[in-house]
Amino acid sequence: MVNFLDLKKINEKHKIELLKACERVIDSGWYILGKEVKEFENEFAKYCGTKYSIGVANGLDALILTLRAWKELGYIAPGDHVLVPANTYIASILAITENDLIPILVEPDKKTYNISVENCKKNITSKTKVILPVHLYGQISEMDEIVAFAKDNNLLVLEDCAQAHGASLSGIKAGAWGNAGAFSFYPGKNLGALGDAGAIVTNDIKLYEVINALRNYGSHKKYENIYTGVNSRLDEIQAAMLKVKLNYLEEDIMARRKIALNYLNNINNINVILPFCSQVEKHVWHLFVIRSPKRHKLIEHLDAKGIQTLVHYPIPPHKQRAYSNLNSLELPFTERLHDEILSIPMDPTLSQDHCNRVIDAVNEFK
Ligand SMILES: *Cc1c(COP(=O)(O)O)cnc(C)c1O
Repeated sequence: MVNFLDLKKINEKHKIELLKACERVIDSGWYILGKEVKEFENEFAKYCGTKYSIGVANGLDALILTLRAWKELGYIAPGDHVLVPANTYIASILAITENDLIPILVEPDKKTYNISVENCKKNITSKTKVILPVHLYGQISEMDEIVAFAKDNNLLVLEDCAQAHGASLSGIKAGAWGNAGAFSFYPGKNLGALGDAGAIVTNDIKLYEVINALRNYGSHKKYENIYTGVNSRLDEIQAAMLKVKLNYLEEDIMARRKIALNYLNNINNINVILPFCSQVEKHVWHLFVIRSPKRHKLIEHLDAKGIQTLVHYPIPPHKQRAYSNLNSLELPFTERLHDEILSIPMDPTLSQDHCNRVIDAVNEFK
């Protein structure tokens, strides 16, 4: 069996270090917002190249709290429009609607499947206040163009970096381009905790301070509440796990790039569309997503060969029951993508032999 992602194997490599870190937290007697969170925040900000980082409970909260903080700061207001790629994971859209903002679903670029500035231009109005690029599958969006477009139109930029820890463009990492970047450390992400976790990175001290309070009941000082905040704190124990795993992120990215290169160089089935990437640094290959108009048959073929695959994602947000108000939107390229995409095994521990088995099986598909 070729596993899609073997989380047990990934974490087993660091078991001794992870256990030691657990023990340190247990023995400290301090479990919420202490030394581990502070140290991880500093190390993660340094890794991303930003001044600040704030640990939160998960990636969805990282997105929600950033938009919420911009409302508290008076930068945006309910009813404002947010440009977002139509083919993103539902979390990006939930963060917008949770804040009573309006998601404007933009058809993605035909090659990268990331947000297209050209299509954003067609959707901009006086209500547009935010652009929320999603670095889908691990590939950073065209942030130079996006930031220029945002400047021209007075938009705030919130990067959804949940799939793209460490991806970079012109030497600037995902999260450091926008006014803020939101990360998830869900176990299956490229930097994964052993439970739920997330973070926001930013260079804006005001945003940093507001989110710091919002995540902790709206309070900077115990029992004094400035905002009607929430409880969305990063646990000390998860911060300790993440400190261990951050040390291996670059190594894992290299392993993913090697697998991706092997796939790109050796999958030659003319009925399969391979992912597009113009520069090595741009992509950290959270997922390796191919396309086939006969996806269902391809899944069956690979399954028969013992190869696990997944679809990210089978239903676009605007076709979900939860967004019945958006169901009538017509987004043909997005819909086509959702019918054709297939994620094949991508795991930093994937062996050369398993990688070759995937290549042979995809090439044999007719
Ligand atoms: C995983 C993911 C999120 C949400 O992260 P959680 O930690 O699961 O809440 C948000 N956006 C994208 C693009 C994701 O892939």
